[in-house]
Amino acid sequence: MKFSGKAVFELSKELPPEARGLIESVVEYLNRDYLKRGCGKDPSQGAEVVEWGFSGRELWMVFRCGKRVRIDDAVLRTRKVLSEKLGRELRVGVRGVRLVDCSIELDTEIRVSLRLPFVKSVERVDGKTVIRLGGLELGDLKKPVFVRLLRLIEEKEARAKWGGKAEHWQLLKESGRKKLTPPPEDPNRILEEAGWIRRLSIGQYLYTPPFTRILNALRRAFIEEVVKPLGFVEAVFPKMYPLRVGLKTGHLKGVINSMLFASLPKSYNIEEFEELIDYMYVMDDLPPEELQKYLRPPSYFLCFAQCEPFYWFFENEVLDDDSLPIKWYDASGPSFRWEAGGLHGVERVIEFHRIEVVWLGKPQQVIEIRNQLLQRYEHLMDRVLDMEWRWAWVTPWFYEQSGVAEEKLELDIDRPGTIDFEAYLPHRGPREDRKSWLEIGNISIHGTKFTEPFRIRHNKGETLWTGCSGFGSERWAIAFIAQHGFDPKNWPEQFLKYFEEEPMPKSVRGVTYPKTQRGKELLQWLEKLFARGS
Ligand code: ATP
Ligand code: ZN
Ligand code: MG
Repeated sequence: MKFSGKAVFELSKELPPEARGLIESVVEYLNRDYLKRGCGKDPSQGAEVVEWGFSGRELWMVFRCGKRVRIDDAVLRTRKVLSEKLGRELRVGVRGVRLVDCSIELDTEIRVSLRLPFVKSVERVDGKTVIRLGGLELGDLKKPVFVRLLRLIEEKEARAKWGGKAEHWQLLKESGRKKLTPPPEDPNRILEEAGWIRRLSIGQYLYTPPFTRILNALRRAFIEEVVKPLGFVEAVFPKMYPLRVGLKTGHLKGVINSMLFASLPKSYNIEEFEELIDYMYVMDDLPPEELQKYLRPPSYFLCFAQCEPFYWFFENEVLDDDSLPIKWYDASGPSFRWEAGGLHGVERVIEFHRIEVVWLGKPQQVIEIRNQLLQRYEHLMDRVLDMEWRWAWVTPWFYEQSGVAEEKLELDIDRPGTIDFEAYLPHRGPREDRKSWLEIGNISIHGTKFTEPFRIRHNKGETLWTGCSGFGSERWAIAFIAQHGFDPKNWPEQFLKYFEEEPMPKSVRGVTYPKTQRGKELLQWLEKLFARGS
């Protein structure tokens, strides 16, 4: 990222011709020292005055800047030096400053909306982008919108350099091969055809009691083996959040394309709905476009990451050592995601169920808790569920500083980032194929990603971090069955303990259900296996 632009400083009176020498020395000082401060080892990341002149009551300078000393910063620094020097030596004051012909040059092609304030034009040529900004006054340079605009551009450039790769994947640990007893085909298909689960709408299922029993056993195993031994306690989080919360967490900016939204009715007075109700009476239909006329614009998004309310709860709170760390989990409801064409069985759905573990503390505490959780997760995966798993350090691009993306990254899992837990799905193919693995959960430490925007503070000014981990019940169930099959005889003892806490509920078997002959046979087969197992 490079900037260039011409700044015009308005002076309180005309400069005498002999001021030239003084300004020359100011420019020399700026270029050698003051505009290079904070540019690291690379002077081209700093700023430079490349041309200057004066006439009447105006002094102009053309700047070239790298991304470490941006043009707004360079102009403000220069104004400070000029005010001091011209004031002291010539009794000339610096009144105002305008930035004309300012442009930002990027080595990548990005788009920026022309509807943004300050943006005059955007040109993309030969893999580069030049963004020209309208005339800017001193006040504009100091404004948060201008600084945010620059941050947006910087972020877009970083994302473009990251090259569409959503994340960077590095193997951390793996269980090694295990003896598996996979079912005859994709468990999602068996479950659906035998009628243990039934699709209500795209990406949304009803789980009948037998499948619910499996889900619940896994959830109990997770809570008893991982969460509770570490002292996490249960809380109940809401599942629909005001837009403001998503702006602060960054989810609205990052993943708005996969979020679901909710609207309130325009009126509580049922009489105002009369026309619509009459229409439904007669037509037995409710066209969504008609319904929309009776609703307010969406003001909520549905639970996406499930930890959002945790950060909101502590917004503006000041915590002390006695209150830290805070360790909660929420198991109270579904999360929603629009997955478009990616839907598959119950492993990738629009409405799914997850136990979300969240914690808040000082950096060392947050890292330590993450490490303890990892140990317990390993215990769950190996000792209780006996699964074939692997862990990967995945760094979403936004955790990387721009520019670092192409360089080789040192693996340091104590910095903010995410570890994905993946399980092998034998029905998908050989282990070597990445597509044969399913992400079943993950664990993250966020650094100050949430404590900063929500202003969660420590009374002695110490830094606070957060962490979270999601246990996606459906994904664990599918992975477990994909590896151990439907016959409880092949399931590990340690897990049967949880499974057998509940009796086997009856499956639905009616004249018209399950739907197909093959489904009826599959159900019979399942019932036999589970009758033996219980
Ligand atoms: P993927 O890369 O597979 O889409 P993700 O990275 O979007 O997963 P996260 O945002 O990390 O998933 O969500 C945490 C956990 O929630 C996942 O590990 C998974 O167990 C579960 N999960 C996420 N999306 C879905 C979904 N659409 N259906 C079922 N479970 C899901
Ligand atoms: Zn989370
Ligand atoms: Mg992921």
